[in-house]
Amino acid sequence: MPTVAYPRGDRRDPALLETFKQAFGGDWTDVQWQTDKQTAKLVPCTGCGRPLGVNQFYAPAIAKCTGCGGQTETAGKGEAAIVQPGRTDPAKAANLADALLNKQFATAACPLCAEDMELKSVTHNQNYGPTRLVGYTKDGPRYDVSTGETAMLQCNGCKCVVSMSTTAPFVYRRQNEARDSAGDAPVWTSLLGAREKGETADAA
Ligand SMILES: [Zn+2]
Ligand SMILES: [Zn+2]
Repeated sequence: MPTVAYPRGDRRDPALLETFKQAFGGDWTDVQWQTDKQTAKLVPCTGCGRPLGVNQFYAPAIAKCTGCGGQTETAGKGEAAIVQPGRTDPAKAANLADALLNKQFATAACPLCAEDMELKSVTHNQNYGPTRLVGYTKDGPRYDVSTGETAMLQCNGCKCVVSMSTTAPFVYRRQNEARDSAGDAPVWTSLLGAREKGETADAA
């Protein structure tokens, strides 16, 4: 039985797409990646023929791009094409970056090896986020707290992980800084905790 040779190799190798176009035609300029594996193979979408980057063991007969109704493996079961950041569960987003309130968190260069990093998770917190003073009442200052967000990215090369978050409403103290006597301090003070009032990052 004749077998079709699907181009496979390092996902960063541009020759992969060229080989695909020679084998399957089309003037595609990019690949829709459905795997985060570094070694991948390209198969044509069974709907529109565009190149899909999948893992080596993926069955080409079921390949579909997101436009033709397929879901990416890395996006899990995400189906929601219309995503309201902070409201839609990020796990349900067809494109994870659509779930970000802070679009700047979508991409990053690895601080160790400068490879591209891939967004892996997005979480939101209604109670801790960027805080804005909106006025005073007889009971004291009133703050408006917007939804906080935490994003985690991992390097496609060396697997280094970084996370970025807007959920801290105070300035953390460094773990090697002297701390206030504990006593009735809230539990997070014993972990890392806030700097004492009046201190600034500059003063430290
Ligand atoms: Zn398609
Ligand atoms: Zn890296």
